Amino acid sequence: MRIGHGYDVHRLVPDRRLVLCGENVPYERGLLGHSDADVAVHALMDAVLGALALGDIGHLFPDSDLKYKDADSMLLLGEVIGIMREKGFTLGNADITIIAEKPKLAPYIEKMRGNLAAAFGCGVGRISVKATTEEGLGLGGAGIGANAVVLLESIAE
Ligand code: MG
Repeated sequence: MRIGHGYDVHRLVPDRRLVLCGENVPYERGLLGHSDADVAVHALMDAVLGALALGDIGHLFPDSDLKYKDADSMLLLGEVIGIMREKGFTLGNADITIIAEKPKLAPYIEKMRGNLAAAFGCGVGRISVKATTEEGLGLGGAGIGANAVVLLESIAE
């Protein structure tokens, strides 16, 4: 078994879509980034790559590469899952915490879990998505952060 952790933060700005775990979340602002800035999927990809000791997504999908401009992070996750399988691992479980003062994410959590389970080809019981605020003490309304922890299991022959 291998364990991995990922962490990411993006700034909230006007005139951008807000995409979290592949789900469009209606809000007056969205996350700034080179790709679609899906901060939760970025943390998750870093957790998977971390478990495999393969660096991070900045290394795999560089900002300098125009190919990744406004990229759908769920497609990038698909690439990371492909690497995980090539290395002989499958997802045991993933636990993601999204840190946002606003908007309220509760109505979208089940869809987010479903999106990620579909990407991994696993049951939703292996995917946890949680949301918390920082009681106004952390990022405030300036951005959204995410932590992810994964357990990968070696595919037994
Ligand atoms: Mg990021």
